[in-house]
Amino acid sequence: MKQYDVVIVGGGIHGAGVLQAAAAAGHSALLIERLGLASGTSSRSSKLIHGGLRYLESGQFALVRESLRERAIHLRIAAELVELKPFFIPVYRETRRRPWQLKLGLWIYALLGGFGASTRFGAVPKREWSALDGLETRHLDAVIRYHDAQTDDALLTRAVVQSALSLGAEIAMPASFTGADLTDDGVTVAYRQDQEPLQCAARVLVNAAGPWAPHVAGTIRPPIPIPAVDLVQGTHIVLPFAVTAGIYYVESPADGRAVFVMPWHGATLIGTTETPYRGEPDKVHPLPEEEEYLLAVVRHYFPAFRHLTRAHITQRFAGLRVLPAASEAAFDRSRETIFTADRELKPRVLGIYGGKLTGWRAASAHVLDRIGTSLPECARRAATDQLILRRPT
Ligand SMILES: Cc1cc2nc3c(=O)[nH]c(=O)nc-3n(C[C@H](O)[C@H](O)[C@H](O)COP(=O)(O)OP(=O)(O)OC[C@H]3O[C@@H](n4cnc5c(N)ncnc54)[C@H](O)[C@@H]3O)c2cc1C
Repeated sequence: MKQYDVVIVGGGIHGAGVLQAAAAAGHSALLIERLGLASGTSSRSSKLIHGGLRYLESGQFALVRESLRERAIHLRIAAELVELKPFFIPVYRETRRRPWQLKLGLWIYALLGGFGASTRFGAVPKREWSALDGLETRHLDAVIRYHDAQTDDALLTRAVVQSALSLGAEIAMPASFTGADLTDDGVTVAYRQDQEPLQCAARVLVNAAGPWAPHVAGTIRPPIPIPAVDLVQGTHIVLPFAVTAGIYYVESPADGRAVFVMPWHGATLIGTTETPYRGEPDKVHPLPEEEEYLLAVVRHYFPAFRHLTRAHITQRFAGLRVLPAASEAAFDRSRETIFTADRELKPRVLGIYGGKLTGWRAASAHVLDRIGTSLPECARRAATDQLILRRPT
């Protein structure tokens, strides 16, 4: 039976990141992906590499600081894939957050981001409002501009895997993980490829199966602890008009939640919703009421597009957030990644639950730290904050 240091289940951004981090640290690593790279959540996000301005309101300062650091690293190592963009927050008479509150938040954002050039912010002068893609200007008090970054989540995932493969990592795809047995010092991993049942041995199994992670964990014998998580669906729609000035960060007229209106391949991507989800992760799909909710945002802020209906939607997709189980609204819950190991000393299984696209590299570095005691000593091949990520061909 072939032996790996690390076997990873799931070819989303986290699986890709752990594969790269393991290979960069000099370990042998195999990624098992059921369908295709980024076929799950990692192609259905809002595609932002961002600090998470709104997480300041819930006091998640460590998360914002780490995300801003990761944003800066992306702009350096993934310049072909990640682009800094202006973000506009229009403030109307009835907008909940007032200009001074936003400026205070952005000042803290700049502080946590080290006051670099990309953390500059300010008000857009009134004479420039006409350049804002037809944004509603009735009762408009101010437009605040700051910067964050946009990417293509699926391309980024593929780029990270490409980087891992160039360091000697391996991938089995399409191949489904079917179960694992824990041994004293590792794991026997069972998977299926081309209808054929296969096995390999690993020192550590990393469960990076996103919303499928609880299911994957449930197939491990003897049973391991599985954290209590909720799945929350987020839908995006694409409409055939082009915003070009930047990304609009607006409050939904229905409930005040933050929604992004973003340029996307010559059209406009609008998202997202937060709908509790209880079904099988494979079956998630955009709901008509979510599409109406997002259309209402566009109609409210861009009067020229008031005529748009669901019939105009050219693309729609829904992804699942994995959040700690709680009774409070999804919007207010922690976005910190949850890491669980089967045991503290020399873990054999490490699970990644939730997290952010932005934080994949830091999360992967954390995983490698956490499983370090289970892995053999190796000569490091590279540092992941130095490896240049190229646009996949
Ligand atoms: C609506 C929405 C918007 C978001 N927007 C942003 C954003 O703008 N910025 C940001 O930083 N973060 C964002 N996030 C968070 C980010 O998208 C996720 O944290 C990230 O994509 C999760 O990646 P993952 O690798 O953990 O999971 P996934 O991408 O879901 O990958 C899991 C993979 O496991 C595979 N798999 C499952 N079971 C098996 C099996 N048995 N065998 C083999 N493979 C298996 C699946 O096929 C899948 O490819 C958003 C999330 C959502 C839901």
